[in-house]
Amino acid sequence: MARSLGMSLREFDRLPDLERSLWIAEYEREQATCGECGRPIAECSDPEREWYPFRTVCFATQAQAAHQARYERLHEKAQWHNGIFTSWSERQTDEHPFHRDAGVRIGVAERDLHPWDDFTREPDASPIPPDPDEED
Ligand SMILES: [Zn+2]
Repeated sequence: MARSLGMSLREFDRLPDLERSLWIAEYEREQATCGECGRPIAECSDPEREWYPFRTVCFATQAQAAHQARYERLHEKAQWHNGIFTSWSERQTDEHPFHRDAGVRIGVAERDLHPWDDFTREPDASPIPPDPDEED
């Protein structure tokens, strides 16, 4: 144990009692903890114990993945756009040099931050906010 701390036995023995006790306690805790699951080895190495599966769900990540998939499906055929997402092409051209994923990161928020940009449903939706001086 002294070696794992980078000390000689003599150096370890010279540590104040409290510090030495703390190191020993931590060493014993590490030795009793499973390196695989982090539980006490006495528990997880017991073959008579049953272990039940569970899952945790991040609904924000789930929603993000769904929006991402919808966006990709919406632009599955024509994946190249004009830079402001209002015109799409099946091939990369001078007018459509940008791939649908270039520079795009799809996130989720608790409110609609860009209500004008319905990019997962409207193929030609633009991320550029409408000019407040212009009426529809
Ligand atoms: Zn374990």
